[in-house]
Amino acid sequence: MTTTRPDRILGPGHDEFWNWCARGELRLQCCDDCAELAWPVVQSCEHCGSNSFQWQAMTGKGTLVSWCRFDHDYYKGLLDMPYWTILVELDEGPLFVSNPLSIPEEELALGLAVSLAFQDCEDAGGAFKLPVFKKT
Ligand SMILES: [Zn+2]
Repeated sequence: MTTTRPDRILGPGHDEFWNWCARGELRLQCCDDCAELAWPVVQSCEHCGSNSFQWQAMTGKGTLVSWCRFDHDYYKGLLDMPYWTILVELDEGPLFVSNPLSIPEEELALGLAVSLAFQDCEDAGGAFKLPVFKKT
C-alpha cells in the first residue's frame, strides 16, 4: 500500500539520499577529508568545510531517544491522525527523525532497540521509499 506523504525536500544531495532509499539502503554522507558523518544532507562538511563526500551505508540499527505524538492535523487530512514522530540514534551516531512502524504507543520507550524498514510512499515528486523504524 502506498501512503501519500508531505513533499520531500529534493535537489543536490537530497536526490542521492532518496535514490539510495529507493534501492533499500539508508546511506548518509561521509566526509572524504575528516570522515565525519553528516545528517541532514549538507552541501559542505560542518566539521572541516570539505564538499567531497561518499555515501556510507548505515546498518539500519539504532535506539529510540525521543518521540512525540501529533494530534493536530498540520497536513490537513494527508496523514492518519494521530501520528508519531520518533528520534532514533543510529548505531553509527547520527540522530535521525523518522516515524515508527507498527510500534504500539505503550511500547515507545527510551533505549528501545529499533531497526530500519522502508515504507512505500508518494508525494508531488513521485513514488519513494520512506525510511521508518520498527522494533528489533
Ligand atoms: Zn569533513
